[in-house]
Amino acid sequence: MDEILGQVLRNAVWERLDMLSELATRADAPSLLSVARSELPRLTEGWRAMLSAHEPDERGNCPTCSSRWRQQKAPCSVWRAAYEHLVAGGLAPAGGRHVRRASSSPRRVVAGAR
Ligand SMILES: [Zn+2]
Repeated sequence: MDEILGQVLRNAVWERLDMLSELATRADAPSLLSVARSELPRLTEGWRAMLSAHEPDERGNCPTCSSRWRQQKAPCSVWRAAYEHLVAGGLAPAGGRHVRRASSSPRRVVAGAR
């Protein structure tokens, strides 16, 4: 029963993420603005809740990823993923090297064609 509930829960989350990705690529501007206003706070709240569970303890270990037999030094994989996706991956302008490179090359092509 727990396994089935777990699968239902995971599928619901994957479907929600798929829906948001779909909206980001296909929705018109007014719909996108409305979705952003309602969903961005939910997403940031979700990240905050998840990250607080992975805050290092006084010994610098992640209490959630550590077991009694094996300590996981911070930053754990959840914090590394958060950094990769929220900071290095492009949301923050200062860290968006991939985004800048990807968006600047088509512009250069267009500029060269004129
Ligand atoms: Zn952790």
